[in-house]
Amino acid sequence: MSERVIPLIDQRHLMAHPLPIQGLSVHQVTGQVLDRLNRPLRDLRISVTDRCNFRCSYCMPKEVFDSSYTYLPQTALLSFEEITRLAQLFVAQGVRKIRLTGGEPLLRKNIEVLIERLAQLRTPEGAPLDLTLTTNGSLLKRKAQALKDAGLQRITVSLDGLDDAVFKRMNDVDFPVADVLEGLEAAQTVGLGPIKVNMVVKRGTNDGQISPMARHFLGSGMVLRFIEYMDVGATNGWRMDEVLPSAEVVRHLQTELPLVPLEASAPGETAQRWGYANALGQHDPALGEIGVISSVTQAFCSDCNRARLSTEGQLYLCLFASQGHDLRGLLRNGASDELIQASISGIWTQRNDRYSQLRGQLAPARSDNADATAAPRRVEMSYIGG
Ligand code: SAM
Ligand code: SF4
Ligand code: SF4
Repeated sequence: MSERVIPLIDQRHLMAHPLPIQGLSVHQVTGQVLDRLNRPLRDLRISVTDRCNFRCSYCMPKEVFDSSYTYLPQTALLSFEEITRLAQLFVAQGVRKIRLTGGEPLLRKNIEVLIERLAQLRTPEGAPLDLTLTTNGSLLKRKAQALKDAGLQRITVSLDGLDDAVFKRMNDVDFPVADVLEGLEAAQTVGLGPIKVNMVVKRGTNDGQISPMARHFLGSGMVLRFIEYMDVGATNGWRMDEVLPSAEVVRHLQTELPLVPLEASAPGETAQRWGYANALGQHDPALGEIGVISSVTQAFCSDCNRARLSTEGQLYLCLFASQGHDLRGLLRNGASDELIQASISGIWTQRNDRYSQLRGQLAPARSDNADATAAPRRVEMSYIGG
């Protein structure tokens, strides 16, 4: 077991770059903002809560997120009005896809009211946004219809195995597989598709579930995606030897189920796609496809177009960032739409984050506050959203 160091002070509030309300010049807003590596802003992930009913060891380990852990107070959270206003301003800057996440987004009270508002947003060309949500599926059976009625188009559900014992070891709250499967079925029935299923693979913990999961979702119309276990945050005790490279996942599956590579569906797409092949070695759409997300072994920073808005309105430019930019401060100090848009585009044009590409060259992240020479402590995924 690796040793875990529990953070002694809450760093969340120390991490934001305060943005000046006065003295910020409103420069031309083009809607085509590019960062320093020429990457557009297209995808906004919004964390609507830092709370979760699971304790996945790779995300919110029980030892840290225990009964004494202090979550953000209600007043710190962006309200639905604030989220909708910011989302609209991000759309004006080029965002075309919004993903609601967390923590567990379905724990946020009246989430369907927020979805209803976001579903009404339009691009400058008048098109609706690609609106989706990532959930652990625990409340999906109950909420699928309301989410669909509110205007959610599709959904991604996390599921780390089909075997109850393995899945319970991953979620660490004794949650059974059957309830997530029922949630998936409900989502499919109400038409929240195409559905993606995310499986984080931890070598030695759930790698035995790769084949059963592939077989279960084969021909189901749902796209199973295998995600490499990442070194996000500072609490999961990440070790490289627990990462199972995607290439190995594909190699292993190929021995049982023939796969052929497919084209990326969109620029900046995180998953590499593989289609199940027929007897002629050609992709058979009826059998479907899988995806692999190789964040550790094959960085995809060069076309990363994702921004993240934390539960309390800090803008993060990378999953591995340690500092955010305080948009909530601007909102609550009465900043105009023009000023907020100028801030968003100003922040994005300065972006040069590419953590995964540089991973090997960087100092290890801090897991406590003791070593001032180490890299700053990174934010948790439950706070900025996956
Ligand atoms: N609670 C929701 C869920 O689990 O789907 C949404 C939030 S969760 C942070 C978003 C995604 O991040 C999930 O698919 C989860 O499996 C993934 N994730 C969390 N920690 C991870 C890690 N250390 N490495 C890889 N993926 C991770
Ligand atoms: Fe909760 Fe999702 Fe993190 Fe698991 S991955 S602890 S379900 S937020
Ligand atoms: Fe994007 Fe950062 Fe991930 Fe690279 S490491 S793909 S820049 S979020």
